[in-house]
Amino acid sequence: MAEIVVSEAISGPAMDALTAEFDVLCDPQLWQDEAALRSALVDARAIIVRNQTQVSAELIEGARQLEVIARAGAGLDNIDTEAAAANGIVVTYAPRENSLAVAELALGFMLNLARNIPNAHVDTRAGNWNRGQFVGTELSGKTLGLVGFGRIGQLVAERASAFGMRVVAYDKFLPEDAPVVKQLGVKLLEFSDVLQQADYVSCHVPLLPDTRHLFSSQEFRQMKPGACFLNTSRGEVVDEAALYDALLDGHLSGAAIDVREAEPPRPGGLAALDNVLVTPHIGAFSREAQLRVVEMVCKDVRAVLTGGEAQSTFQA
Ligand code: NAD
Repeated sequence: MAEIVVSEAISGPAMDALTAEFDVLCDPQLWQDEAALRSALVDARAIIVRNQTQVSAELIEGARQLEVIARAGAGLDNIDTEAAAANGIVVTYAPRENSLAVAELALGFMLNLARNIPNAHVDTRAGNWNRGQFVGTELSGKTLGLVGFGRIGQLVAERASAFGMRVVAYDKFLPEDAPVVKQLGVKLLEFSDVLQQADYVSCHVPLLPDTRHLFSSQEFRQMKPGACFLNTSRGEVVDEAALYDALLDGHLSGAAIDVREAEPPRPGGLAALDNVLVTPHIGAFSREAQLRVVEMVCKDVRAVLTGGEAQSTFQA
């Protein structure tokens, strides 16, 4: 039986080095088969996952040799961190290593929505030359409303300011006098004020019990008519049916979503609307970010398995 179980697609030079040193079972589909995963973990000392493997209390209880759970990414919503702590298992992750990739995707979403690039591309590739049909808007002078002003929200703010946007933000836990607020020239507001003032609302909160469906009918109705909504955080933060209604009746003019309530989602729904951009949870998927993420978690797994200390741990 393997010492290290990798239950999703994770590769790169750091993983190759780990494989050369330890007995590693690498099966990108393992997360889909709970029984096989449970059996692979009976003797394993480490598991490395992305966001699809549900590392539940039950799975942890059955993995008696487990010393470290490594999450190759930022959010820990698929890991029962309390059960890990109760069983003395280290949880390591890469909270900063992919933030820039997500922030750049959010900027890309805004530019694509403002200029309708995806539809213009499809139309032009079909042999048309419909210049008049693709008159867009500028980001400069518009208001960006960030919901969640942590690592990613701050990187988005910095970049949006460079485009000449006014940036307002709501963060439940960040103190008003946090130096970064002044430093980035952002105005911290109440949630409803951000919704009412922003031309683009971009969501950057973690998935927690109180952020599940943080955006539902009421929140979308509070947004400015014609505003756009972006989600690169977690799908469950958004009530997709409510977003669909707000887009279909024209209250919102567009949306761009990288993450879905169910992944992969059923065909149709939001993806069938012309004013919606969808991507398959690729926020973190830049080559540079993936190298940083995999390097960080492999380093920490190696440290724990050789009696050292992990650098990037989460304490429940
Ligand atoms: P972070 O912890 O640095 O920032 C999150 C911010 O949200 C914090 O400042 C926190 O105070 C705030 N917050 C928490 N609950 C809130 C609430 N109820 N209302 C308002 N604000 C609240 O996290 P981050 O690195 O900026 O990442 C944000 C999220 O992005 C992650 O939790 C993860 O789910 C998601 N993410 C997605 C991808 C992707 O591939 N699309 C990649 C990385 C991260």
